[in-house]
Amino acid sequence: MSTLGDEVGAPGAKTSPTPDWEATADLVVVGSGVAGLTAALRARELGLSVLGVTKAAVSDSNTRWAQGGVAVVDAGTGDSVAGHVADTLAAGGGLCEEDVVRSIVAGGPAAVARLRARGTTFDRADDGTLARTREGGHSAFRVIHAGGDATGAEVQRALAADVGRKRVPVLERHIAVDTLRTSSGDVGGLLLLDPDGAACVVRARAVLLATGGFGQLYQATSNPEIATGDGLALALRAGAVAADLEFVQFHPTVLYTPGARGRCPLVTEAVRGEGAVLVDAGGARVMPGVHPLGDLAPRDVVSAAITRTMADAGADHVYLDASGIGGFARRFPTVHAACARVGVDPAREPIPVAPAAHFACGGVATSPEGRTGVRGLYAAGEIARTGLHGANRLASNSLLEGLVVGERAAEAVAMDLAAGELAPLTRATPGDAAVAPVANRGLLQRLMSRHAAIGRGASGLAVAASRIAAARRDRALDGHGVVEDAALTLLADVLLAVAAERTESRGCHVRADYPQRDDAGWQRSLRVRLDATGAPVVLTPALASGAA
Ligand SMILES: Cc1cc2nc3c(=O)[nH]c(=O)nc-3n(C[C@H](O)[C@H](O)[C@H](O)COP(=O)(O)OP(=O)(O)OC[C@H]3O[C@@H](n4cnc5c(N)ncnc54)[C@H](O)[C@@H]3O)c2cc1C
Repeated sequence: MSTLGDEVGAPGAKTSPTPDWEATADLVVVGSGVAGLTAALRARELGLSVLGVTKAAVSDSNTRWAQGGVAVVDAGTGDSVAGHVADTLAAGGGLCEEDVVRSIVAGGPAAVARLRARGTTFDRADDGTLARTREGGHSAFRVIHAGGDATGAEVQRALAADVGRKRVPVLERHIAVDTLRTSSGDVGGLLLLDPDGAACVVRARAVLLATGGFGQLYQATSNPEIATGDGLALALRAGAVAADLEFVQFHPTVLYTPGARGRCPLVTEAVRGEGAVLVDAGGARVMPGVHPLGDLAPRDVVSAAITRTMADAGADHVYLDASGIGGFARRFPTVHAACARVGVDPAREPIPVAPAAHFACGGVATSPEGRTGVRGLYAAGEIARTGLHGANRLASNSLLEGLVVGERAAEAVAMDLAAGELAPLTRATPGDAAVAPVANRGLLQRLMSRHAAIGRGASGLAVAASRIAAARRDRALDGHGVVEDAALTLLADVLLAVAAERTESRGCHVRADYPQRDDAGWQRSLRVRLDATGAPVVLTPALASGAA
């Protein structure tokens, strides 16, 4: 899909070598996952002129790969918002913001109702109610799913179809490179590269980033190729504050194949929710005695336990025994197909699994309505750090966050426009971030996987930082690949800086040299921004309290 609607100032003829064309809109939404499409649809309903931009096809996103489902309370099943909040706080390792958690969790049922009204079909139980499964860290069966284990594909399909029906224009294969800024630093649009690398400008009263996470910073990840953190890098360069970036969640179970690199197929946590157990090569259970919830402990706990088991045995994977689950192929068709491709039959033999980079718990610091500290710049979905996830995301809370905050961010833009808070269209100009430091992607991934994964330590983090510093070169951001590599390079710098700063272990941040949680010193988020040279500066608590 690539439609330009009539209410957006459509690209005109080429007038100058750079940019090649300009468009205008009230709001430009970057990203076509759950958060971006939800925001674009809501903004359109509110009467804003919206332009969607996405660097691949509309169907390419993390959202499309989500398996387990959406965590959402149904009071009729005996579940409660208070229970979902308590589980989220317990998983988050003391760093969730409780009022934000309550607000997003409480917004879930209405957001899911609107998602269903937009055409999403969830699986039903035999009695006709929505089927609900349980995942790690959840004390209730509250995770709704679609197509068995293909929830994200259904959400993506339905939202994209609605965007098409409502004629919301989306520019496909256009990558956002930099923001346009006014003289006072407000954001007023975007510099893009089209599929051929030609520059184009979208002037907008507001920019909403919904560009997802950065799993591609690591060698093995559940994330698709688009997950390179571009929006987060762009927001940092625009002066936004980021927080909680040291908390990269490793999913405990991606399908292990020897030497696997890039996107690895996920084995959804719902498989453990329905009875599968983790075992080592000798068949001994991994989780008993580690956590009261056993195999359904929060992800950080399970990933760390698997990592310890692998280290003790000198192995690079463990196994998931799902042989007790009847009708596996029907209930988990996506996982079954991925296993079949590597010759594993989950009904008869344990599935080889290992942890892999999965989810960015931190991101651009925003309010629960998606406002950043930079006027005109909004963020929603995995890119944003609202305070919902703290040090470790509770399973299936991210589609929920994308739905709830995606809508609220569109409403915040409409409200800020009506209040005259946003810069007029004509004032913003492209910045000069056309050149940025770039290191080789393979080197970044190797260094981050070796030194900044589970069990990081001061010396390894320092080695990674100095090798990246030595390897990077300034390069013109004149193609899609180099824009992504520049983002990954910046995020590696920032992540290494905050991971070195936090001298404790908490949630997804597991330090080999500081294995204990230290509430007296570290029960707070680390906030970071870039200085005038583009280097990350970790904000002191006093400075951070004023940042969004
Ligand atoms: C395998 C897998 C399984 C998961 N399972 C679940 C689950 O069961 N439940 C759950 O809640 N969560 C799950 N998650 C996490 C969840 O899918 C994501 O956190 C969520 O979908 C993120 O949505 P988003 O809208 O923020 O971003 P994404 O869905 O990642 O979309 C980002 C969009 O931004 C675009 N983009 C990026 N950079 C640029 C740029 N520079 N210019 C233009 N466009 C750009 C991309 O092309 C894409 O369209 C899973 C994730 C994975 C990878």
